[in-house]
Amino acid sequence: MQPLLSILQQFREHSPRTELPSVPEVLALLRLQGDDCAKLYAAADKLRQRTVGDAVHVRGILEFSNYCANDCGYCGIRRSGGVTRYRMAPDEIVTQAIQARTWGCNTVVLQSGADPWYTVERLCSIVRAIRLAGVPAVTLSVGVRTAAELRQFAAAGCDRYLLRFETSNRRLFRQIHPDETFARRVQCLEDLRSARIQVGSGFMIGLPDASLATLARDILFASRLDLDMIGCGPFLAHPDTPLGGKPQLEDREIYFKTMAILRLLNPRAHIPATTAFDALDPNGRNRVLQCGANVFMPNVTPGKYRRLYQLYPNKPCVDEDGAACACCVRGRIAGLGRRIADGPGHSLRSQSRAKTARR
Ligand code: SF4
Repeated sequence: MQPLLSILQQFREHSPRTELPSVPEVLALLRLQGDDCAKLYAAADKLRQRTVGDAVHVRGILEFSNYCANDCGYCGIRRSGGVTRYRMAPDEIVTQAIQARTWGCNTVVLQSGADPWYTVERLCSIVRAIRLAGVPAVTLSVGVRTAAELRQFAAAGCDRYLLRFETSNRRLFRQIHPDETFARRVQCLEDLRSARIQVGSGFMIGLPDASLATLARDILFASRLDLDMIGCGPFLAHPDTPLGGKPQLEDREIYFKTMAILRLLNPRAHIPATTAFDALDPNGRNRVLQCGANVFMPNVTPGKYRRLYQLYPNKPCVDEDGAACACCVRGRIAGLGRRIADGPGHSLRSQSRAKTARR
């Protein structure tokens, strides 16, 4: 319990530059059991309440294309997979994003595979139209793009970008991402920051062949990036992929401990309870909201496309529509005694940056 205490005593809340713990210290936290584990969750929840508050930001994910040029080893829409492909037309994307706003989503997250049909010009005109229609914030999650493209996205009104690094272990990264390099992804995260776009990244918890020490290093790597948002989820390989059938972690609590540690090390970051946690455990997203998370991302993709965007097995909500998901989210958040946040939900980090720039 000593390492836990030492971390609790040096919350980075007031001094974000406080040194991060060592790999063995994070490992000790990941190995906590029983009452100590409950204390870890409680500490993360308390810190979340004090730093980012009780309000939960609701961000609708719109999966607008399942075409992908890449062949990641675990993904259900990888290039060589046999899924029926779809692309939503630009007008359809804009209409659905506006609809999502009426369901209570102040941010729309436009997500797709690495689909070159959506050129920077097409994406910029979609982002512009959504912002002009009064949606407070737009996030893009469309894979690695060049620095020049990212600047164009920012100029069109893109507020945030999600690009997970997935694992900080270069060897593992190479094994499961044959089309990309770790360095290129990390460079893209830096380019996003230079383009003044809020940066979201994260990793998969429980990758096959990843030791607990690798997980500890991933937690520390994400924390060092000083992200606006940290999005992680359990590793769940689609059955029709090379990694299909690889087992999940025996100790299910590791998934939740990881989220709690991330909150302790990143007091001011937005941390979503990602959908994949519900594939692990029907109550998964609620549990993550109770150990540090403050963002919920309901699916707002039209029902007819949902079964075609299954990155991993047992994806929840594939038979619902956006209205049903929004209603369910409201109930879940209220059930936890929390409320839905108003406004665009920009990160605390970006708000302080804007304040400094105004001085
Ligand atoms: S994880 Fe992303 S980049 Fe990789 S195959 Fe799936 S959609 Fe494409």
